Formats: sequence, structure tokens, C-alpha cells
Amino acid sequence: MEPDLESSRGFARESLEQMQRRGIKPTPENFTVWYGFAADAPPAARRAMDILISNNQDFTPEVLSDLYERFYGGTKHTERIRVLAQQIDTAMAGVLGTLGDAGQGVRQYGATLDHTTRELLADNPLDSVRAIIRQVMDETRDMIERSEVLERQLTKTTEEIGELRKQVEDASREAQTDALTGIGNRKNFDLQLKLCMQEAMEQGTELTLLLIDIDHFKNFNDTYGHQFGDLVLKLVSKYMVEGIKGRDLAARYGGEEFAILLPNTDLRDAAVVAEHLRERIGSKAIVNRDTKKNFGTVTISVGVSLYRLGEPPYVLIKRADAALYQAKQTGRNRVVTEVELDESTGESSLPIEQDI
Ligand code: GH3
Ligand code: MG
Ligand code: MG
Repeated sequence: MEPDLESSRGFARESLEQMQRRGIKPTPENFTVWYGFAADAPPAARRAMDILISNNQDFTPEVLSDLYERFYGGTKHTERIRVLAQQIDTAMAGVLGTLGDAGQGVRQYGATLDHTTRELLADNPLDSVRAIIRQVMDETRDMIERSEVLERQLTKTTEEIGELRKQVEDASREAQTDALTGIGNRKNFDLQLKLCMQEAMEQGTELTLLLIDIDHFKNFNDTYGHQFGDLVLKLVSKYMVEGIKGRDLAARYGGEEFAILLPNTDLRDAAVVAEHLRERIGSKAIVNRDTKKNFGTVTISVGVSLYRLGEPPYVLIKRADAALYQAKQTGRNRVVTEVELDESTGESSLPIEQDI
């Protein structure tokens, strides 16, 4: 139900007060976020912000932009859905038009039957009865033909709608798939991370992140060529997919870096998953089946972080990356979790983007 004018004014006043008190710039996006908070709409946004407030987190521009995108913006998604809805609307209008035509045809046929019935009931000579019957038969034949045409049109439009939906699904899946390895790409990861974070906030569950980087990967490329490097990437992806289950998600984060999201998993279990993966990948030499040439083993380093309710995505990634950096610094082929982070080595190795 729409709030009444008085309540709306109250929400607007409260949101401006909140922004002023917290030194937040009154942009349209920030106003939307704080108005939503005051109006408790959607309640999930209010809950997320309550958690941030109780954790004494700052409402930095990044945090605010993240809240806006998550609860009110979702521009990329909204746009895709809008285009899809428009196309389906057009196709549906076609179906309705066809049905309208069909109705018109049936009405016409009914009118003809009415007319001929009246003619037959009238005292007509035999010749004109024959003519009337012939006319009815012609009309019936026309009607059958028209119905068949309409049926074909309807089938075609229905097929078009089905094809349209499939195209959108394919395009969306393709846009989120890494062409080389076939697992999710960075876009998929970013999207899934946001969904997982939202779910963790709403349900109070734990969410962990593994950032994985192949050790000395450049050496493989330099020694055996880029194509061999690509093969190694595919192999590591395969092990990753085999090493996870259920709703866990593996994605290619960058060149030779991967990410795994583990919803409903605490840091200790996430470290176990990471350790299994590390052991599994590092325990097998890559051997060419035909020539039996041994290319040695591939090892990975892994950084693990645990989502703190309310924090923006880049902060969670940054902690996993700091742990990964420490794993590299302390010898590679190892797993480091955020609780093992040592201040002196726990720096970030990646330039972390703020807008993910
Ligand atoms: P470290 O153990 O510190 O991670 O060393 P590294 O050699 O793995 O890391 P570095 O960042 O020096 O090199 C990464 C290499 O990954 C460089 C780049 O050419 C290669 N790479 C990135 N994407 C691809 C790809 O799609 N295919 C192949 N074959 N190589 C790639
Ligand atoms: Mg790297
Ligand atoms: Mg590497």
C-alpha cells in the first residue's frame, strides 16, 4: 500500500536528517537509500542497514552505492528484463491480434448461418434452396481455411516467443561464461557474490570466499607455450568444479586466477575445501597421453575470507586477496585464511576495484 502524504513527508524528513547527521551527500541515489530505510521498503534493505549501523560501519560512498545498486538500482538486470518484457509484449500483442481476427471470422460465419437459416425457413423454391446450401458450403470451406491459417499463425507466434526466451537465456548464460574453461566468468562471479551476500544477510548464514592463483604459471607459458598454458587453465577449472558441490560456485576471476564462493560455509570448512583442492591439483603430474612426456605438477595458492554481514563486496575480496598474497610470500602451494593474516605480509597483491 502506498504511504499517505503525511507518512511520505515524515520519511523524506527522516532521510534528510539521517544524511545530514551522518555527513552524507544528498544525491538522488543516497536519498533513495535513506528514504527506503525510513519507509522500511524493502524490509531487506532496512535489515542490511540496521546491521551496518549496529556494526558501526561507515556509510562511505562505496557502501551507499552498493546499497543503492543492490536494493534499488540493479540497472544492468533491470535493463535486460525491460528489453525481454518488451519483446514478449510485442509477441503477445501478435497473439492477441490473431485471436481477435479469429473471433471476427467466427462472428462473420455465425452471421452468415443466421442469414441462411432465415432464408431456408422462408418459403423458397428448390433452386434457391440449392443456391443457399452451396453458399453455406462455400462459407464453411472459407471458414475452415481461415481457421487453419490462424492456427498456423498462432503456432508460429508461440514458437517465436519460445525462441525469444531461449535466446535471452542463452545470451545471458554466454555473457556470464568464460569461453576457455566453460565455468563462470568475472561478471558471473560479481553477480553471484552479490546474491550470496544478500542471502547471507537475510538468513544470517556464513559465506566464504576462496581466491585461487596458479603458482608460477608464467613459467608454464614460457616453457611450453601459451596453448599448453590454456590447457592447464582448463585442467585447474575441472578440478575446481569437481571439488565443490551443491550451491558452491567456481568462476574464473582473471587470467590465471579463480574464485570459489561457498554459501553456508564457515571459515574452517572453507579452508578444508581449499586444502583438498590444493592437494588434489598438486598431487598429479601433467603427462601427455601419447608421448608420455611429463610436464611436472601445477600448484595453486589460496586465500580464504569470511563475509562480515553488511560489508561491501570489495572488502571481502580484499581480505581473501591479502591472504592469497601471504600464501605466495610464504612459499606458494599453500592455503592461508584471513585469521592467519600477518600484518607485515598481508598486503594486497591486486589493484582492487571499488565498484564491484
Ligand atoms: P605467481 O606464482 O606469483 O602467481 O606467478 P605467476 O607466473 O603465476 O604470475 P604472473 O602474474 O607473473 O603471470 C601470470 C601469467 O598468466 C601471465 C599471463 O601471460 C598468463 N595468462 C593470463 N591469462 C592467460 C590465458 O588465458 N592463457 C594463458 N596461456 N596464459 C594466461
Ligand atoms: Mg596472478
Ligand atoms: Mg599466478
